[in-house]
Amino acid sequence: MKAFYAEEQKRHDPKAFLSSGAQKPNPEKPERVERLLAGAKAAGCTIERPRDHGLGPVAAVHTPEYLDFLEHIFARWQRIEGASAEVIPNIHPIARDGSYPASAVGQAGYHMADTACPISSETWQSALWSAWSAVEAAGAVMSGAPAAYALCRPPGHHAFADVAGGFCFINNSAVAAQVLRKNAARVAILDVDLHHGNGTQGIFYARPDVLTVSLHADPVRFYPFFWGHADERGEGPGLGYNLNLPLARKSGDAPFLEALDVAFQRIRAFAPEVLVVALGLDAFEGDPFGGLSVTTPGFSRIGEAIAGLGLPTVIVQEGGYLCDELGDNLTAFLTGFGGGRRR
Ligand SMILES: [Zn+2]
Repeated sequence: MKAFYAEEQKRHDPKAFLSSGAQKPNPEKPERVERLLAGAKAAGCTIERPRDHGLGPVAAVHTPEYLDFLEHIFARWQRIEGASAEVIPNIHPIARDGSYPASAVGQAGYHMADTACPISSETWQSALWSAWSAVEAAGAVMSGAPAAYALCRPPGHHAFADVAGGFCFINNSAVAAQVLRKNAARVAILDVDLHHGNGTQGIFYARPDVLTVSLHADPVRFYPFFWGHADERGEGPGLGYNLNLPLARKSGDAPFLEALDVAFQRIRAFAPEVLVVALGLDAFEGDPFGGLSVTTPGFSRIGEAIAGLGLPTVIVQEGGYLCDELGDNLTAFLTGFGGGRRR
């Protein structure tokens, strides 16, 4: 399987974030890339550099105002006397029905959901190349490859059309799905990250052409708290085209695979022409976030089960944080997926 990744994606190096009010080192570290590259190579992937695809595919799912913010906010922030080294918001509109602010501080609060996505001089380029890796993988599948892997880092599934959050800036899975729509009437996104794919849900919430399905730790007491509940089913023409499958904390392989079967029933009924897998590996039992208890062999079974859908598949990297098994978990998923294909 081809894998796509560009060196520029490693330059974004956020320093801190707030967890339960305490400042901690930001876990979305460039070192994740080394582990994931090793894991992809161990699964037999060849690594290719994506091309520069311009703003077009990104602007197809994000607003012009938001992309302008992402590109220029760091330079504007530097002009504020006494400002922090990275752009971090300190005020948010409690509802988004007020005026769009002119100030950099106001816009940071408007476009950033939390403190987990600090913006540095490198963030915009890293996020763009991450998205272009997803575009390239989508292109490979549109050209006839049965599957392709995009090593997207920074990740994307918490980014809404005009809001960054949870380490995410550009929604790579949504970008890939929208690219795939050029050739496919129906695209399904299956998100197996530990956390609910709230940004992806938000982008496609009112659309019946992109089915969004997410398995994740129950948000009743877990990030992203406000989204990911079972009663969020879509709206307007998109009603019925969003499925959330929250799992009890610490759920292991068996309940995860059972929920996956429910996801497959909905996906089969939708009959998509192509699938995007938002592949978080943070459901792992040893992940620093500790929300679920999927094992390394469990990721192999998840990959094998997804391959059983028999759909052309774009695999987009989402979360999964530094632990000894991070690379092994990617290898397990991709190897299981390949085994499921051959069956
Ligand atoms: Zn996650």
